[in-house]
Amino acid sequence: AGAPPAAGRGTDAAHAFDLDAVLAQFPLLVAGRRGEKPLVYLDNAATTHKPECVLSALEYYYRCANANAGRGVYPLATASTKLYEEARRTAALFVGAADDEIVFTSGATAALNLVAYSWGMEHLQPGDEVVLTMAEHHSNLLPWQQVARLKGAKLVYLLPDAQGRIPDEEIDAKIGPRTKIAAVAHVSNVLGSVFPVRRVADAVHAYGGVLVADCAQSVAHLPVDVRALDADFLAFSGHKMYGPMGVGVLYGRRELLAGMEPLLRGGGMIESVFEQHAAFADAPARFEAGTPNVAGAVGLAEAMRFLLEVGYDAVRARERRLVERLLAGLAALPDVRVHGAPHGEVGVADGGAPEPSRCGAVSFNVRGVDANDVAAALARDNVAVRAGAHCAEPLVRYLGERATCRASLALYNTEEDVDRFLSSVENAKRNVS
Ligand code: PLP
Repeated sequence: AGAPPAAGRGTDAAHAFDLDAVLAQFPLLVAGRRGEKPLVYLDNAATTHKPECVLSALEYYYRCANANAGRGVYPLATASTKLYEEARRTAALFVGAADDEIVFTSGATAALNLVAYSWGMEHLQPGDEVVLTMAEHHSNLLPWQQVARLKGAKLVYLLPDAQGRIPDEEIDAKIGPRTKIAAVAHVSNVLGSVFPVRRVADAVHAYGGVLVADCAQSVAHLPVDVRALDADFLAFSGHKMYGPMGVGVLYGRRELLAGMEPLLRGGGMIESVFEQHAAFADAPARFEAGTPNVAGAVGLAEAMRFLLEVGYDAVRARERRLVERLLAGLAALPDVRVHGAPHGEVGVADGGAPEPSRCGAVSFNVRGVDANDVAAALARDNVAVRAGAHCAEPLVRYLGERATCRASLALYNTEEDVDRFLSSVENAKRNVS
């Protein structure tokens, strides 16, 4: 606890984080800061900005290596194929998987739908249960809702407590012999809570079920390792971790992918095709029908290198300070209700190793002011936040709200950003209420 650190920049000596050097790599943010009302970008849970290295990788691909991957044998085509497969290698190393366990998709949504419609349709039986948290993004809810409906299975929800945590007792009470699948967010896009994915994995595995981890909101903030989480499937998007839009990753355990039907059928995923039937290629090609987003994969691999170069420890240390400053500032404003954990970490007080309890997103409401009006007032100050149900309607309803306002941090945010956001909220409250 204690006073938040003074506003300012410079190198965070303990973690070798040179904020100015990092910021300089984001051209849109550099330009945005020059205006009369400098841009304060706190909508990172929706999408992050892209560093120069990612932009250069995309341009390099289209200028120097553009050809369809996995098909032609001429030099340009083999160069494109090589870049695509190198990107897969990078993604595999990034999450601690093997190359053939990495399927490139268009994003987390496509990855989660693939698991639901391919693995879920094949394995769910009437009476089975699919366990989700009440905080799932619709992308990790609607596919399960539909597949459960078609198969006569039931959705069961783990409920977060007032601090936005999923208590152990919830997991013990809700996961049992009928649980076939637990599909949970690693980090909530509304509460910012870090959910106990490993604990859920252990529980579901004890009953022979599978664990699907939605890491769309965690991967920019925390290391994501398929073995540490003991995930059977794991999904995330490139664009929320400094990579391009339109590309994402599905990790699937090799034995599980091997038995799965493809969801999409078309070019590039077959072994042989006859008039009445076809034989499909092995994973991952089996799940990548059609021309892949090679440039996207190349850009995503570059974003992974960028994140690893900055280093998760440095990212964490930096974002922790910012989130504490933001939470302390909101707590000091009367009539502001912050949802979820009041601090960024737990475990510090009892001397244990600090564990992140929230990352990235902070949702709040100003009593008596519609969340959309708060966001609109902030927009007039060029402070970018999001208001609404954040594609997590059941959670927002569970919180007793119709909409919340959400500020979400990234590694390039500054103390000044947080302070301008806070004074903008204070003004909004004064002017709108
Ligand atoms: N899961 C979570 C937790 C998210 O926050 C999001 C997007 O906000 C998604 C899944 C879906 O990601 P995308 O829209 O990139 O497919």
